Amino acid sequence: MMMLTRKMIEIRGLLQTVGQSEALTLPSIVVIGSQSSGKSSVLEAIVGHEFLPKGHNMVTRRPIELTLVHTPDAHAEFAEFPALGLNKVTDFTQVQKTLTDLNLAVPASDCVSDDPIQLRIHSPNVPDLSLIDLPGYIQVVGRDQPPELKEKIANLCEKYIKAPNVILAISAADVDLANSTALRASRKVDPRGERTIGVITKMDLVDAERGASLLSDRKYALRLGYVGVVCRVPSNASNSKLFNRGSGDITKAIAKNEKSYFSMHPEFSPESELSIGTGNLKKKLMHVLEQTMASSLKTTSEAIQRELAEATYEYKVQYNERSLSAESYLAESLDAFKHSFRSFSDQFGRQQVRELLKHELDQQVLNLLAQRYWNRPLEDLTPPLPELDPLSRLAKADPEGEDQIWKIKLDSSSAALTKLGVGRLATSVIANSLQAHIDHLVSTSRFAAHPFARQAITEASTSILKDLSYDISDELEICIKPYKYRIEVEDNEWAKGRENVTNVLKEELKVVEAAAKKLEDQVGGRKKVRDVMAFIDRVRNGQVVLEGDGIGGAGGFSASLLGKGREAVFLRDRSDMLKMRLLAVKSKQCANKKNKYNCPEVFLDAVADKLTTTADLFLDAELLSKFFYAFPRELDSRLGRGLSQEEIDRFAREDPKIRRHLDVVRRKDLLEHVLKEMEGLRALEAREKRSSRRD
Ligand code: GDP
Repeated sequence: MMMLTRKMIEIRGLLQTVGQSEALTLPSIVVIGSQSSGKSSVLEAIVGHEFLPKGHNMVTRRPIELTLVHTPDAHAEFAEFPALGLNKVTDFTQVQKTLTDLNLAVPASDCVSDDPIQLRIHSPNVPDLSLIDLPGYIQVVGRDQPPELKEKIANLCEKYIKAPNVILAISAADVDLANSTALRASRKVDPRGERTIGVITKMDLVDAERGASLLSDRKYALRLGYVGVVCRVPSNASNSKLFNRGSGDITKAIAKNEKSYFSMHPEFSPESELSIGTGNLKKKLMHVLEQTMASSLKTTSEAIQRELAEATYEYKVQYNERSLSAESYLAESLDAFKHSFRSFSDQFGRQQVRELLKHELDQQVLNLLAQRYWNRPLEDLTPPLPELDPLSRLAKADPEGEDQIWKIKLDSSSAALTKLGVGRLATSVIANSLQAHIDHLVSTSRFAAHPFARQAITEASTSILKDLSYDISDELEICIKPYKYRIEVEDNEWAKGRENVTNVLKEELKVVEAAAKKLEDQVGGRKKVRDVMAFIDRVRNGQVVLEGDGIGGAGGFSASLLGKGREAVFLRDRSDMLKMRLLAVKSKQCANKKNKYNCPEVFLDAVADKLTTTADLFLDAELLSKFFYAFPRELDSRLGRGLSQEEIDRFAREDPKIRRHLDVVRRKDLLEHVLKEMEGLRALEAREKRSSRRD
């Protein structure tokens, strides 16, 4: 039943993907030998290609786990480095180069590493085999090598030649077997010679009689026997075009070479019953490995059962038997996120847009007022109010001329507001707010622990908002265009504006007073602030002349204190101004829109309100509803259908908790699958045994 090795090799591949533990190691053939014993040549003869690193320095620094997969398809010959993600390498020079690089990556100071390189070779010319190539034993440590190297290599080999592995002990014919390091090492772990195959290389270098006596050695008797080979690639073959070094198939050349050598000597005639040639070696390896696999079936199944029991226990206790896959995790997370987005979109509507916009425009109105009306000197720039000021300029000789100034001032202020670029401003205020809400939703969702998904969501919302904003801000600008030329304010609008701006001014007053208080605390008390403010007032009124520019301080105050004083004076003036304007707005005069030129705060508020009403209606219809429609769809395409299996896995595994959960589920499923396969193999083997007994 020659399919056992193949099946077991497949199982090994599966177990490797879940990080198989030592207990689950399936038997392999471990190749050991001294340097230059011909170890590489034997392996290459088995594979049929030159693919191992060559050179004067010791180049095998890491174990190579070589899996040979027999593929009947004559054209399918290729190598794979699964750990590197290198697939279908058809050029064996490339394999040789990759192995050399991987070996050289081990620091020279370490010389050898335990970390195995996994290499698979698929070919119609190889049997199903699993071999492990190890660094060659060395006799003498080189000058540039660490003194403990010899021991390090020996330890590494010792680790691999444990049961149930089969040992392939390579010794050269021209070296006394008593001196073979490989045989000595194998004897230590396999004293009865039950799982060691002896390979005698370089048979062509000794006379046939001696060669034949080596193969029937009694001193170092091995149950699996010795095989004699001549593995050197004939130089004419390796130089010819057909057998390019490292790339061509050398199987035939070696077979021919061996045949011509062995057939020349009667010592190796079939009657001698000696085991000779690479072809026989291959057959023996297949047979022995198959046997070893069969006899380890029971122990391996038991080991898998134990691992499975552990995984099942963890699954039950830690995860309450909750099944999980990367796809289901992603789908659930996406659903939950879309759900939270839906509830957000339900309560973010025109009203919310309106509040945001009005707040923004209130600030713009305050800025305009400060620039155009509340600047110093007070008396010249703020519109007069008769009730507050009996000597008002309204009562002056030329009320018409005065009126004209305030009219122009208000018209230009109102124009400044409408021509502010309300379309762009309003659109970006709402788009930014939507983005901030999405960011908040993400940070409170499962996606918070997934940088990849976070980025995908942010990109989804920013790209939609960017696309929409471009046209919407232009279109909104067109909607508010009429206000740029003429604004009619109704009585009720005026009343509303008056009420609103009173609150805005009150709020602003609070802000200014809080800032003044903070400044007072910073400076160290009210008195100190008052003193420095009094000094600055005297300077401003020309009562004191500053020497120089006052940079180094003046009037007994430091420069920084003077700076704070100037801020305090500004805040005091601002608060005086706000109080005065509050009184003005609340006065009877401002109750009537006919006095709008004297009540610019109310008028500008009414304008801001009109702009807001136009903008909120438009943005609700254009920006919100379009965004609310497009965003979940964009999420689906970026995080749902658009993802490959690999990306979904990567996503789910970003969260360490989920990664552990997924690992347990996967490990359990896989071990269950493997165990089933193993049971099948055992049943098959038992049947075969029974039928062979009957025969
Ligand atoms: P490794 O260091 O054990 O891997 O040994 P190699 O396979 O690199 O072989 C060492 C040297 O012995 C090389 O020069 C090979 O060409 C040579 N060699 C290997 N096998 C044979 C053989 O069967 N006959 C002869 N004459 N030389 C061989």
